[in-house]
Amino acid sequence: MNSQIMPIPTEIKARLAKIVGPNGVIYELDEMMPYLHEERGLATGHADIVLRPNNVQEVSSVVQICAREKISIVPVGGCTGLVGGTLANGGVVLATDRLDKIIQVDPLNNTITAESGCILANLQNAAAENECLFPLSLGAEGSCRIGGNLSTNAGGVSVLRYGNTRDLVLGLEVVLPSGEIWNGLSALRKDNTGYDLKQLFVGAEGTLGIITKAVLKLFPAPKVSTTVLVALPQLEPILALFNQTRELCGDRLTAFELISRIGLELGSSHIPGIVDPFKTSYPFYALIELTSAQKKDNLHNDIEEILENALEDGIIMDAVFAESDAQRRELWRIREEIPAAQSREGGSIKHDISVSVSNTVAFIMEASKRVSKVLPGIRPCPFGHIGDGNIHYNLTQPIGMPKEEFMSRSVEINRIVHDLVIEMKGSISAEHGIGFFKREELTHYASPTKISLIRTIKQAIDPYNIMNPGKII
Ligand SMILES: Cc1cc2nc3c(=O)[nH]c(=O)nc-3n(C[C@H](O)[C@H](O)[C@H](O)COP(=O)(O)OP(=O)(O)OC[C@H]3O[C@@H](n4cnc5c(N)ncnc54)[C@H](O)[C@@H]3O)c2cc1C
Repeated sequence: MNSQIMPIPTEIKARLAKIVGPNGVIYELDEMMPYLHEERGLATGHADIVLRPNNVQEVSSVVQICAREKISIVPVGGCTGLVGGTLANGGVVLATDRLDKIIQVDPLNNTITAESGCILANLQNAAAENECLFPLSLGAEGSCRIGGNLSTNAGGVSVLRYGNTRDLVLGLEVVLPSGEIWNGLSALRKDNTGYDLKQLFVGAEGTLGIITKAVLKLFPAPKVSTTVLVALPQLEPILALFNQTRELCGDRLTAFELISRIGLELGSSHIPGIVDPFKTSYPFYALIELTSAQKKDNLHNDIEEILENALEDGIIMDAVFAESDAQRRELWRIREEIPAAQSREGGSIKHDISVSVSNTVAFIMEASKRVSKVLPGIRPCPFGHIGDGNIHYNLTQPIGMPKEEFMSRSVEINRIVHDLVIEMKGSISAEHGIGFFKREELTHYASPTKISLIRTIKQAIDPYNIMNPGKII
Protein backbone atom coordinates (compact mmCIF):
# COMPACT_ATOMS: atom_id res chain seq x y z
CA MET A 1 0.00 0.00 0.00
CA ASN A 2 3.03 2.34 -0.07
CA SER A 3 3.34 4.99 -2.76
CA GLN A 4 6.66 5.36 -4.52
CA ILE A 5 8.77 8.18 -3.20
CA MET A 6 10.88 8.60 -6.30
CA PRO A 7 11.66 11.85 -8.07
CA ILE A 8 8.89 12.82 -10.47
CA PRO A 9 10.17 12.43 -14.07
CA THR A 10 10.72 15.76 -15.84
CA GLU A 11 8.18 14.97 -18.53
CA ILE A 12 5.42 14.37 -15.92
CA LYS A 13 6.37 17.52 -14.04
CA ALA A 14 5.92 19.42 -17.26
CA ARG A 15 2.44 17.91 -17.78
CA LEU A 16 1.45 18.80 -14.21
CA ALA A 17 2.80 22.33 -14.62
CA LYS A 18 0.86 22.80 -17.85
CA ILE A 19 -2.44 22.05 -16.05
CA VAL A 20 -2.03 24.85 -13.50
CA GLY A 21 -0.22 27.35 -15.74
CA PRO A 22 2.85 29.45 -14.91
CA ASN A 23 1.23 31.18 -11.87
CA GLY A 24 0.36 27.87 -10.33
CA VAL A 25 3.70 26.07 -10.25
CA ILE A 26 6.75 26.36 -8.02
CA TYR A 27 10.04 24.51 -8.59
CA GLU A 28 12.48 26.58 -6.53
CA LEU A 29 13.15 25.48 -2.95
CA ASP A 30 13.05 28.95 -1.38
CA GLU A 31 9.69 29.68 -3.03
CA MET A 32 8.40 26.29 -1.89
CA MET A 33 9.31 26.92 1.75
CA PRO A 34 6.00 28.54 2.85
CA TYR A 35 4.30 25.28 1.81
CA LEU A 36 6.86 22.95 3.39
CA HIS A 37 7.47 24.51 6.78
CA GLU A 38 5.99 23.19 9.98
CA GLU A 39 4.32 25.69 12.32
CA ARG A 40 6.57 24.98 15.32
CA GLY A 41 9.75 24.51 13.29
CA LEU A 42 9.98 20.86 14.38
CA ALA A 43 10.59 19.52 10.85
CA THR A 44 10.58 20.56 7.20
CA GLY A 45 8.95 18.71 4.35
CA HIS A 46 10.32 18.39 0.84
CA ALA A 47 8.54 18.20 -2.50
CA ASP A 48 9.46 17.76 -6.14
CA ILE A 49 6.96 20.39 -7.15
CA VAL A 50 4.37 22.67 -5.54
CA LEU A 51 1.16 23.07 -7.54
CA ARG A 52 -1.40 25.81 -6.87
CA PRO A 53 -4.50 24.96 -8.91
CA ASN A 54 -7.10 27.63 -9.57
CA ASN A 55 -10.26 25.53 -9.81
CA VAL A 56 -11.64 22.05 -9.18
CA GLN A 57 -11.02 20.87 -12.77
CA GLU A 58 -7.32 21.67 -12.40
CA VAL A 59 -7.22 19.79 -9.07
CA SER A 60 -8.93 16.83 -10.70
CA SER A 61 -6.56 16.78 -13.70
CA VAL A 62 -3.50 16.95 -11.41
CA VAL A 63 -4.81 14.10 -9.26
CA GLN A 64 -5.63 11.97 -12.31
CA ILE A 65 -2.01 12.14 -13.46
CA CYS A 66 -0.72 11.44 -9.94
CA ALA A 67 -3.09 8.46 -9.63
CA ARG A 68 -1.89 7.01 -12.93
CA GLU A 69 1.79 7.54 -12.06
CA LYS A 70 1.41 6.66 -8.33
CA ILE A 71 2.78 10.02 -7.23
CA SER A 72 2.02 11.09 -3.68
CA ILE A 73 0.07 14.30 -3.05
CA VAL A 74 0.05 16.36 0.14
CA PRO A 75 -2.81 18.88 0.33
CA VAL A 76 -1.78 22.11 2.06
CA GLY A 77 -3.97 24.91 3.39
CA GLY A 78 -2.53 27.59 5.65
CA CYS A 79 0.17 25.24 7.04
CA THR A 80 -0.82 26.13 10.63
CA GLY A 81 -1.62 22.57 11.70
CA LEU A 82 0.25 21.44 14.79
CA VAL A 83 0.79 17.73 14.11
CA GLY A 84 2.94 17.74 10.96
CA GLY A 85 -0.01 16.85 8.69
CA THR A 86 1.37 18.87 5.77
CA LEU A 87 4.93 17.50 5.91
CA ALA A 88 5.62 16.13 2.43
CA ASN A 89 8.18 13.45 1.70
CA GLY A 90 8.70 14.07 -2.02
CA GLY A 91 6.00 14.12 -4.68
CA VAL A 92 3.45 16.89 -5.18
CA VAL A 93 2.42 19.48 -2.65
CA LEU A 94 -1.00 20.72 -3.70
CA ALA A 95 -1.61 24.14 -2.19
CA THR A 96 -5.15 25.47 -2.03
CA ASP A 97 -4.24 29.15 -1.68
CA ARG A 98 -5.60 30.09 -5.12
CA LEU A 99 -8.92 28.33 -4.38
CA ASP A 100 -9.94 31.25 -2.19
CA LYS A 101 -13.27 32.48 -3.53
CA ILE A 102 -16.45 32.98 -1.53
CA ILE A 103 -19.11 31.63 -3.84
CA GLN A 104 -22.37 32.52 -2.13
CA VAL A 105 -23.77 33.81 1.15
CA ASP A 106 -27.41 32.85 1.62
CA PRO A 107 -28.69 34.63 4.75
CA LEU A 108 -32.15 33.06 4.46
CA ASN A 109 -30.78 29.52 4.35
CA ASN A 110 -28.11 30.64 6.84
CA THR A 111 -25.29 29.18 4.72
CA ILE A 112 -22.06 30.25 3.11
CA THR A 113 -20.44 28.41 0.19
CA ALA A 114 -16.73 28.87 -0.36
CA GLU A 115 -13.68 27.33 -1.96
CA SER A 116 -11.50 25.39 0.43
CA GLY A 117 -8.52 27.75 0.27
CA CYS A 118 -10.55 30.61 1.72
CA ILE A 119 -8.84 32.04 4.80
CA LEU A 120 -11.00 31.51 7.89
CA ALA A 121 -11.04 35.23 8.80
CA ASN A 122 -12.27 36.09 5.28
CA LEU A 123 -15.17 33.67 5.73
CA GLN A 124 -16.01 35.21 9.09
CA ASN A 125 -15.93 38.69 7.51
CA ALA A 126 -18.11 37.66 4.56
CA ALA A 127 -20.66 36.29 7.02
CA ALA A 128 -20.49 39.45 9.15
CA GLU A 129 -21.06 41.66 6.09
CA ASN A 130 -24.38 39.82 5.74
CA GLU A 131 -25.19 40.25 9.45
CA CYS A 132 -24.50 36.58 10.08
CA LEU A 133 -21.94 34.72 12.13
CA PHE A 134 -19.60 31.94 11.03
CA PRO A 135 -18.64 30.83 14.53
CA LEU A 136 -15.42 28.87 14.02
CA SER A 137 -12.77 30.97 15.76
CA LEU A 138 -9.18 30.12 16.65
CA GLY A 139 -5.81 31.77 17.12
CA ALA A 140 -4.63 31.00 13.57
CA GLU A 141 -7.78 32.36 11.87
CA GLY A 142 -5.84 35.03 9.95
CA SER A 143 -3.84 32.39 8.06
CA CYS A 144 -5.52 28.97 8.30
CA ARG A 145 -7.86 27.97 5.46
CA ILE A 146 -11.30 26.41 5.69
CA GLY A 147 -10.15 23.23 3.89
CA GLY A 148 -7.51 22.80 6.61
CA ASN A 149 -10.07 23.50 9.34
CA LEU A 150 -12.39 20.88 7.85
CA SER A 151 -9.61 18.36 7.35
CA THR A 152 -8.49 18.66 10.99
CA ASN A 153 -12.04 19.08 12.32
CA ALA A 154 -10.77 22.15 14.12
CA GLY A 155 -12.28 23.07 17.47
CA GLY A 156 -11.43 26.54 18.71
CA VAL A 157 -12.95 28.76 21.35
CA SER A 158 -16.68 28.50 20.55
CA VAL A 159 -17.15 24.71 20.53
CA LEU A 160 -19.17 25.00 23.71
CA ARG A 161 -21.90 26.91 21.87
CA TYR A 162 -21.53 25.91 18.19
CA GLY A 163 -19.65 22.59 18.11
CA ASN A 164 -16.55 21.53 16.14
CA THR A 165 -16.05 22.23 12.42
CA ARG A 166 -17.76 18.88 11.82
CA ASP A 167 -20.95 20.38 13.24
CA LEU A 168 -20.73 23.41 10.96
CA VAL A 169 -20.58 21.67 7.58
CA LEU A 170 -23.57 20.85 5.37
CA GLY A 171 -21.90 19.86 2.11
CA LEU A 172 -18.53 19.28 0.46
CA GLU A 173 -17.00 18.98 -2.97
CA VAL A 174 -14.03 16.61 -2.91
CA VAL A 175 -11.52 15.41 -5.48
CA LEU A 176 -11.01 11.72 -4.75
CA PRO A 177 -7.63 9.93 -5.05
CA SER A 178 -8.69 8.72 -8.51
CA GLY A 179 -9.18 12.30 -9.67
CA GLU A 180 -12.96 11.88 -9.80
CA ILE A 181 -14.94 14.83 -8.42
CA TRP A 182 -17.50 13.98 -5.73
CA ASN A 183 -20.13 16.72 -5.70
CA GLY A 184 -21.67 16.56 -2.26
CA LEU A 185 -22.18 20.31 -2.12
CA SER A 186 -25.56 20.13 -0.44
CA ALA A 187 -27.00 23.05 1.51
CA LEU A 188 -29.61 20.87 3.22
CA ARG A 189 -30.07 20.55 6.96
CA LYS A 190 -31.93 17.28 6.55
CA ASP A 191 -30.70 14.58 4.18
CA ASN A 192 -30.81 10.96 5.22
CA THR A 193 -30.04 9.37 1.87
CA GLY A 194 -27.57 6.77 3.04
CA TYR A 195 -24.14 7.23 4.61
CA ASP A 196 -23.18 10.80 5.49
CA LEU A 197 -20.16 10.77 3.18
CA LYS A 198 -19.01 14.33 3.84
CA GLN A 199 -18.17 13.38 7.43
CA LEU A 200 -15.62 10.84 6.13
CA PHE A 201 -13.54 13.70 4.75
CA VAL A 202 -13.90 15.92 7.83
CA GLY A 203 -10.95 15.16 10.11
CA ALA A 204 -9.34 12.90 7.47
CA GLU A 205 -6.30 15.21 7.33
CA GLY A 206 -6.06 14.98 3.56
CA THR A 207 -5.67 11.20 3.52
CA LEU A 208 -8.88 10.47 1.61
CA GLY A 209 -9.13 13.29 -0.91
CA ILE A 210 -8.83 17.01 -1.50
CA ILE A 211 -11.69 19.17 -0.28
CA THR A 212 -12.27 21.87 -2.90
CA LYS A 213 -15.51 23.54 -1.76
CA ALA A 214 -17.77 23.56 1.29
CA VAL A 215 -21.22 24.70 2.31
CA LEU A 216 -21.12 25.86 5.92
CA LYS A 217 -23.72 26.85 8.49
CA LEU A 218 -24.22 30.45 9.53
CA PHE A 219 -25.92 31.76 12.65
CA PRO A 220 -27.53 35.06 13.66
CA ALA A 221 -24.78 37.58 14.37
CA PRO A 222 -24.42 38.39 18.07
CA LYS A 223 -25.73 41.87 18.86
CA VAL A 224 -24.29 42.02 22.37
CA SER A 225 -21.38 40.35 24.13
CA THR A 226 -19.59 40.42 27.46
CA THR A 227 -16.09 39.18 28.24
CA VAL A 228 -14.74 38.82 31.74
CA LEU A 229 -11.54 37.43 33.25
CA VAL A 230 -12.20 35.84 36.61
CA ALA A 231 -9.52 35.13 39.24
CA LEU A 232 -9.83 31.88 41.21
CA PRO A 233 -8.38 30.97 44.62
CA GLN A 234 -7.46 27.49 43.32
CA LEU A 235 -8.33 25.18 40.43
CA GLU A 236 -11.13 23.10 41.98
CA PRO A 237 -13.92 25.76 42.06
CA ILE A 238 -13.67 26.41 38.31
CA LEU A 239 -16.18 23.67 37.54
CA ALA A 240 -18.71 25.09 40.03
CA LEU A 241 -18.32 28.47 38.34
CA PHE A 242 -18.74 26.86 34.91
CA ASN A 243 -21.84 25.02 36.02
CA GLN A 244 -23.46 28.11 37.56
CA THR A 245 -22.72 30.20 34.46
CA ARG A 246 -24.12 27.58 32.12
CA GLU A 247 -27.22 27.08 34.25
CA LEU A 248 -28.08 30.76 34.25
CA CYS A 249 -26.87 31.76 30.81
CA GLY A 250 -27.69 28.63 28.77
CA ASP A 251 -26.30 28.75 25.27
CA ARG A 252 -25.43 32.43 25.59
CA LEU A 253 -22.25 31.03 27.19
CA THR A 254 -19.96 30.97 24.16
CA ALA A 255 -16.49 30.46 25.63
CA PHE A 256 -15.15 29.28 28.97
CA GLU A 257 -11.36 29.05 28.94
CA LEU A 258 -8.81 28.15 31.60
CA ILE A 259 -5.65 30.19 32.10
CA SER A 260 -3.08 29.31 34.75
CA ARG A 261 -0.86 31.73 36.66
CA ILE A 262 2.26 30.56 34.84
CA GLY A 263 0.52 31.16 31.49
CA LEU A 264 -0.21 34.76 32.45
CA GLU A 265 3.28 35.26 33.89
CA LEU A 266 5.03 33.88 30.81
CA GLY A 267 2.83 36.10 28.61
CA SER A 268 3.59 39.26 30.56
CA SER A 269 7.34 38.43 30.67
CA HIS A 270 7.76 37.56 26.98
CA ILE A 271 4.96 39.12 24.92
CA PRO A 272 4.84 42.90 24.53
CA GLY A 273 1.45 44.35 25.45
CA ILE A 274 0.35 41.55 27.75
CA VAL A 275 -0.25 42.78 31.29
CA ASP A 276 -1.73 41.18 34.37
CA PRO A 277 -5.03 43.06 34.81
CA PHE A 278 -5.16 42.22 38.55
CA LYS A 279 -3.14 43.82 41.35
CA THR A 280 -2.77 40.49 43.15
CA SER A 281 -1.49 37.15 41.80
CA TYR A 282 -3.97 34.27 41.64
CA PRO A 283 -3.23 30.64 40.75
CA PHE A 284 -5.90 30.21 38.06
CA TYR A 285 -8.24 32.28 35.90
CA ALA A 286 -11.34 31.66 33.79
CA LEU A 287 -11.92 33.69 30.65
CA ILE A 288 -15.66 33.79 30.06
CA GLU A 289 -17.50 35.16 27.05
CA LEU A 290 -21.25 35.49 26.66
CA THR A 291 -22.94 36.53 23.41
CA SER A 292 -26.53 37.02 22.34
CA ALA A 293 -28.38 37.84 19.15
CA GLN A 294 -30.96 39.71 21.27
CA LYS A 295 -30.02 43.38 21.58
CA LYS A 296 -31.95 43.76 24.83
CA ASP A 297 -30.20 40.86 26.56
CA ASN A 298 -28.33 42.27 29.55
CA LEU A 299 -25.45 39.83 29.62
CA HIS A 300 -23.34 42.04 31.85
CA ASN A 301 -25.97 42.03 34.61
CA ASP A 302 -26.49 38.27 34.38
CA ILE A 303 -22.82 37.37 34.69
CA GLU A 304 -22.29 40.04 37.35
CA GLU A 305 -25.00 38.42 39.47
CA ILE A 306 -23.33 35.01 39.09
CA LEU A 307 -19.93 36.43 39.96
CA GLU A 308 -21.22 38.31 43.03
CA ASN A 309 -22.67 35.09 44.40
CA ALA A 310 -19.48 33.22 43.53
CA LEU A 311 -17.42 35.87 45.35
CA GLU A 312 -19.57 35.48 48.47
CA ASP A 313 -19.17 31.70 48.31
CA GLY A 314 -15.39 31.96 47.96
CA ILE A 315 -15.49 30.37 44.48
CA ILE A 316 -13.80 33.38 42.91
CA MET A 317 -11.53 36.16 44.19
CA ASP A 318 -11.88 38.99 41.66
CA ALA A 319 -13.04 39.76 38.12
CA VAL A 320 -12.16 42.20 35.34
CA PHE A 321 -14.74 43.05 32.66
CA ALA A 322 -13.74 44.16 29.18
CA GLU A 323 -15.21 47.65 28.86
CA SER A 324 -14.39 48.05 25.17
CA ASP A 325 -13.56 45.94 22.14
CA ALA A 326 -9.88 46.81 22.62
CA GLN A 327 -10.00 45.51 26.20
CA ARG A 328 -11.77 42.38 25.02
CA ARG A 329 -8.91 41.75 22.58
CA GLU A 330 -6.36 42.33 25.37
CA LEU A 331 -8.03 39.71 27.58
CA TRP A 332 -8.16 37.23 24.72
CA ARG A 333 -4.48 37.87 23.90
CA ILE A 334 -3.54 36.63 27.38
CA ARG A 335 -5.11 33.31 26.42
CA GLU A 336 -4.02 33.15 22.77
CA GLU A 337 -0.37 34.05 23.32
CA ILE A 338 0.38 31.35 25.90
CA PRO A 339 1.97 28.95 23.37
CA ALA A 340 4.18 31.73 21.94
CA ALA A 341 5.19 32.83 25.44
CA GLN A 342 6.02 29.24 26.36
CA SER A 343 8.27 28.90 23.30
CA ARG A 344 10.19 32.02 24.33
CA GLU A 345 10.67 30.60 27.83
CA GLY A 346 12.40 27.49 26.40
CA GLY A 347 11.32 23.90 25.85
CA SER A 348 7.71 22.84 26.16
CA ILE A 349 6.14 19.41 25.88
CA LYS A 350 2.59 19.79 24.63
CA HIS A 351 -0.56 17.70 24.90
CA ASP A 352 -3.91 18.41 23.28
CA ILE A 353 -6.15 16.17 25.35
CA SER A 354 -9.79 15.89 26.30
CA VAL A 355 -11.61 14.23 29.14
CA SER A 356 -15.20 14.65 30.26
CA VAL A 357 -15.71 18.15 31.64
CA SER A 358 -16.33 16.69 35.11
CA ASN A 359 -12.86 15.05 35.01
CA THR A 360 -10.86 18.08 33.83
CA VAL A 361 -9.74 19.30 37.25
CA ALA A 362 -8.91 15.78 38.48
CA PHE A 363 -6.91 15.23 35.29
CA ILE A 364 -4.84 18.40 35.65
CA MET A 365 -4.08 17.69 39.30
CA GLU A 366 -3.19 14.05 38.85
CA ALA A 367 -1.13 14.64 35.67
CA SER A 368 0.82 17.41 37.41
CA LYS A 369 1.51 15.10 40.36
CA ARG A 370 2.74 12.29 38.09
CA VAL A 371 5.00 14.40 35.86
CA SER A 372 6.47 16.27 38.85
CA LYS A 373 7.37 12.95 40.42
CA VAL A 374 9.53 11.90 37.46
CA LEU A 375 10.86 15.38 36.72
CA PRO A 376 10.92 17.65 39.78
CA GLY A 377 10.71 21.33 38.86
CA ILE A 378 8.74 20.73 35.65
CA ARG A 379 6.22 23.57 35.24
CA PRO A 380 2.71 22.51 34.19
CA CYS A 381 1.00 25.23 32.15
CA PRO A 382 -2.50 23.88 31.51
CA PHE A 383 -4.83 26.14 29.56
CA GLY A 384 -7.64 26.04 27.07
CA HIS A 385 -11.17 24.99 26.44
CA ILE A 386 -12.08 23.58 29.86
CA GLY A 387 -15.76 24.23 29.14
CA ASP A 388 -15.72 21.47 26.50
CA GLY A 389 -13.21 19.21 28.28
CA ASN A 390 -10.24 20.05 26.01
CA ILE A 391 -7.12 21.01 27.93
CA HIS A 392 -3.85 22.00 26.32
CA TYR A 393 -1.77 20.30 28.98
CA ASN A 394 1.55 21.95 28.21
CA LEU A 395 4.65 21.52 30.31
CA THR A 396 7.41 24.09 30.52
CA GLN A 397 10.98 23.07 31.29
CA PRO A 398 12.31 23.33 34.85
CA ILE A 399 14.16 26.61 35.47
CA GLY A 400 17.83 26.14 34.63
CA MET A 401 17.48 22.84 32.75
CA PRO A 402 18.90 22.92 29.20
CA LYS A 403 16.14 22.80 26.58
CA GLU A 404 17.60 19.73 24.83
CA GLU A 405 17.77 17.78 28.08
CA PHE A 406 14.14 18.63 28.81
CA MET A 407 12.91 17.80 25.31
CA SER A 408 14.77 14.46 25.42
CA ARG A 409 12.25 13.42 28.12
CA SER A 410 9.27 14.01 25.75
CA VAL A 411 8.50 10.34 25.01
CA GLU A 412 8.53 9.40 28.69
CA ILE A 413 6.40 12.40 29.71
CA ASN A 414 3.95 11.87 26.83
CA ARG A 415 3.46 8.30 27.95
CA ILE A 416 2.65 9.38 31.53
CA VAL A 417 0.17 12.04 30.40
CA HIS A 418 -1.50 9.94 27.72
CA ASP A 419 -1.76 6.88 29.98
CA LEU A 420 -3.72 9.03 32.42
CA VAL A 421 -5.91 10.36 29.60
CA ILE A 422 -6.79 6.81 28.61
CA GLU A 423 -7.38 5.81 32.26
CA MET A 424 -9.90 8.66 32.35
CA LYS A 425 -11.50 7.54 29.06
CA GLY A 426 -10.30 10.66 27.28
CA SER A 427 -8.71 11.47 23.92
CA ILE A 428 -4.99 11.95 23.21
CA SER A 429 -5.80 14.41 20.43
CA ALA A 430 -8.85 16.53 21.08
CA GLU A 431 -8.64 19.03 18.24
CA HIS A 432 -5.30 19.06 16.41
CA GLY A 433 -5.53 15.62 14.80
CA ILE A 434 -2.92 12.89 14.40
CA GLY A 435 -0.94 13.96 11.32
CA PHE A 436 2.64 12.72 11.35
CA PHE A 437 3.69 13.46 14.93
CA LYS A 438 0.99 11.48 16.76
CA ARG A 439 0.81 8.39 14.57
CA GLU A 440 2.64 6.19 17.04
CA GLU A 441 0.51 7.40 19.92
CA LEU A 442 -2.63 6.52 17.93
CA THR A 443 -1.30 3.06 17.12
CA HIS A 444 -0.32 2.56 20.76
CA TYR A 445 -3.66 3.58 22.25
CA ALA A 446 -6.36 2.84 19.63
CA SER A 447 -8.02 -0.56 19.62
CA PRO A 448 -7.01 -3.02 16.87
CA THR A 449 -10.61 -2.81 15.63
CA LYS A 450 -10.38 0.94 15.18
CA ILE A 451 -7.02 0.71 13.38
CA SER A 452 -8.37 -2.01 11.14
CA LEU A 453 -11.45 0.07 10.25
CA ILE A 454 -9.24 3.07 9.45
CA ARG A 455 -7.08 0.90 7.17
CA THR A 456 -10.12 -0.60 5.46
CA ILE A 457 -11.59 2.83 4.68
CA LYS A 458 -8.23 4.16 3.47
CA GLN A 459 -7.67 1.11 1.25
CA ALA A 460 -11.15 1.38 -0.25
CA ILE A 461 -10.87 5.06 -1.15
CA ASP A 462 -7.12 5.40 -1.81
CA PRO A 463 -5.87 1.92 -2.81
CA TYR A 464 -2.45 3.19 -3.97
CA ASN A 465 -1.91 5.34 -0.86
CA ILE A 466 -1.12 8.46 -2.84
CA MET A 467 -3.16 10.87 -0.72
CA ASN A 468 -1.04 12.32 2.10
CA PRO A 469 0.77 9.02 2.74
CA GLY A 470 2.25 8.39 6.16
CA LYS A 471 -0.31 10.50 7.99
CA ILE A 472 -2.72 9.25 10.70
CA ILE A 473 -1.53 5.63 10.29
C1 LIG B 1 -1.83 29.96 16.79
C2 LIG B 1 -2.62 28.71 16.50
C3 LIG B 1 -3.80 28.48 17.17
C4 LIG B 1 -4.53 27.33 16.90
N1 LIG B 1 -5.69 27.14 17.61
C5 LIG B 1 -6.42 26.05 17.35
C6 LIG B 1 -7.65 25.83 18.06
O1 LIG B 1 -8.03 26.60 18.93
N2 LIG B 1 -8.35 24.73 17.72
C7 LIG B 1 -7.95 23.85 16.77
O2 LIG B 1 -8.65 22.87 16.51
N3 LIG B 1 -6.79 24.01 16.12
C8 LIG B 1 -6.03 25.08 16.38
N4 LIG B 1 -4.84 25.24 15.71
C9 LIG B 1 -4.38 24.17 14.78
C10 LIG B 1 -5.34 24.01 13.64
O3 LIG B 1 -5.40 22.66 13.19
C11 LIG B 1 -5.10 24.86 12.44
O4 LIG B 1 -4.85 26.19 12.76
C12 LIG B 1 -6.16 24.81 11.33
O5 LIG B 1 -7.36 24.12 11.55
C13 LIG B 1 -5.49 24.13 10.17
O6 LIG B 1 -5.78 24.85 9.00
P1 LIG B 1 -4.68 25.04 7.88
O7 LIG B 1 -5.37 25.65 6.71
O8 LIG B 1 -3.51 25.76 8.37
O9 LIG B 1 -4.34 23.52 7.56
P2 LIG B 1 -2.93 22.89 7.18
O10 LIG B 1 -2.00 22.97 8.32
O11 LIG B 1 -2.47 23.43 5.89
O12 LIG B 1 -3.37 21.37 6.98
C14 LIG B 1 -3.83 20.60 8.04
C15 LIG B 1 -4.18 19.20 7.54
O13 LIG B 1 -5.27 19.26 6.65
C16 LIG B 1 -4.91 18.78 5.34
N5 LIG B 1 -5.56 19.68 4.39
C17 LIG B 1 -5.42 21.02 4.29
N6 LIG B 1 -6.24 21.50 3.34
C18 LIG B 1 -6.90 20.45 2.81
C19 LIG B 1 -7.88 20.30 1.81
N7 LIG B 1 -8.37 21.32 1.12
N8 LIG B 1 -8.35 19.04 1.54
C20 LIG B 1 -7.87 17.97 2.22
N9 LIG B 1 -6.93 18.05 3.17
C21 LIG B 1 -6.46 19.28 3.49
C22 LIG B 1 -3.40 18.81 5.31
O14 LIG B 1 -2.89 17.82 4.44
C23 LIG B 1 -3.05 18.53 6.77
O15 LIG B 1 -3.09 17.16 7.03
C24 LIG B 1 -4.08 26.38 15.95
C25 LIG B 1 -2.88 26.63 15.27
C26 LIG B 1 -2.16 27.78 15.54
C27 LIG B 1 -0.88 28.01 14.79
